[in-house]
Amino acid sequence: VDAVETVIIGGGQAGLALSRCLADRGAEHVVLERGRVAERWRSERWDSFSLLTPNWQTRLPGHRYTGADPEGFMGRDDVVRLLERYAAGLPRSLRTGVAVERVEALDPGLPTGWRVSTDRGVLRARNVVVATGDQQTPRVPRLAATAPDGIVQVHSSRYRNPGQLPDGSVLVVGAGPSGQQIADELAAAGRRVLLAVGRHRWLPRTIGGIDVAEWQERLGARRRTVEELDDPAAARARPFPVLSGRHARLHLGTLVRRGVEPLGRLLAISDGTAHLGGNLHADAAAADESAQRFRRRVIAHAAAAGLAVQHEDPEPPTPPLPHLPRRLDLAAEGVSAVVWATGFRRSYPYLQAPVLDAEGEPVHRRGITSAPGLAFLGLRWQRTAVSHAIDGVGADADELAERLTAQGSNWTARGWAAPALI
Ligand SMILES: Cc1cc2nc3c(=O)[nH]c(=O)nc-3n(C[C@H](O)[C@H](O)[C@H](O)COP(=O)(O)OP(=O)(O)OC[C@H]3O[C@@H](n4cnc5c(N)ncnc54)[C@H](O)[C@@H]3O)c2cc1C
Repeated sequence: VDAVETVIIGGGQAGLALSRCLADRGAEHVVLERGRVAERWRSERWDSFSLLTPNWQTRLPGHRYTGADPEGFMGRDDVVRLLERYAAGLPRSLRTGVAVERVEALDPGLPTGWRVSTDRGVLRARNVVVATGDQQTPRVPRLAATAPDGIVQVHSSRYRNPGQLPDGSVLVVGAGPSGQQIADELAAAGRRVLLAVGRHRWLPRTIGGIDVAEWQERLGARRRTVEELDDPAAARARPFPVLSGRHARLHLGTLVRRGVEPLGRLLAISDGTAHLGGNLHADAAAADESAQRFRRRVIAHAAAAGLAVQHEDPEPPTPPLPHLPRRLDLAAEGVSAVVWATGFRRSYPYLQAPVLDAEGEPVHRRGITSAPGLAFLGLRWQRTAVSHAIDGVGADADELAERLTAQGSNWTARGWAAPALI
């Protein structure tokens, strides 16, 4: 059995960023990735996918965007190339094609290290960092099982392009960033699209000619830490804002203008009939209000900084939403496919350590768990609002690398106290 100081599970941006930070400190480690570098970007994003964060926000430890289009948005393959190049700069720490199957304490009575079993052999490690992504396992509601047999069903992580779906109407379930982008693409391709809408929010791509990412930076939204929040659990559960990865606005209004037919929340399917909630108008109004709230914050900030930003939103408002059916006969509407844009959850089936709560979510403080040497990286609001994102994980990785290398053999005893399990 080989021994290594730190095993990092996952070769996405989080695992690679931590590898960079450990290498800079001369700390021994290995990154185990079951697929290829950036596997999630390669195999779980649609063909036309582009980042919602601009190019200048693809900063990672030791990497800055230096291309010609800092305000542009990388496509899926650009992100893969970026992470491949980044991984190539790491000092031989990466092992691809190695799946971690079990992580357990070497001695459960005296947890001084971990046994990491993989499909390629076993490692002993003092530290294990789980960097397998915040948006990990497709979350598909149980009612999917009740959809009529002839309907093709695909989760957003398996959706590639309109041509993949059979002819006919498409029901997209979920109006978050993925659902709205996919609905937009399907409608642009001439498909009839029905969109089941729940609680969501959106942000204007630009305000006063300045990109929303720049405003978030100026407003200090990225510097706020989890300790400053009144309710971190609520922040983690908040819908991700809908944005377009182009220089354009995306929200229900733009979709309706494109011909997408919004519906209420999908509640149940029985005997080929979809049952829908009456929530659409309230949820659309709440989403519009959250966009306007953000706009007002920007205007106030700009005014304080002596910048003039037009008070009136120059883009057309959301057109009135249609009167809604509460029941929809899927066959009569010609629905041939359902795209579940219903998000992701986390799952750690290989983790034999008491660090998960009743819902299977990691219990941690800034990634550090109560199990000595076991940490997470890349979780939503792990430390800041951008901990799960490309531009945010670097600072967290740096902090974690500092912890891992500044420790004695009992490093959770230093600095933050380990959180109690709930
Ligand atoms: C649709 C979508 C759009 C997004 N858009 C943006 C955006 O515009 N900008 C932005 O900054 N962020 C965006 N994100 C958020 C975030 O950047 C991505 O989720 C990103 O993939 C997270 O990187 P990560 O390294 O934390 O995890 P991942 O990329 O998920 O990497 C984890 C790796 O772990 C590997 N792995 C899992 N289990 C095991 C195991 N048992 N053994 C070995 N390896 C394992 C996986 O193969 C994977 O490669 C988006 C996310 C989604 C879902």
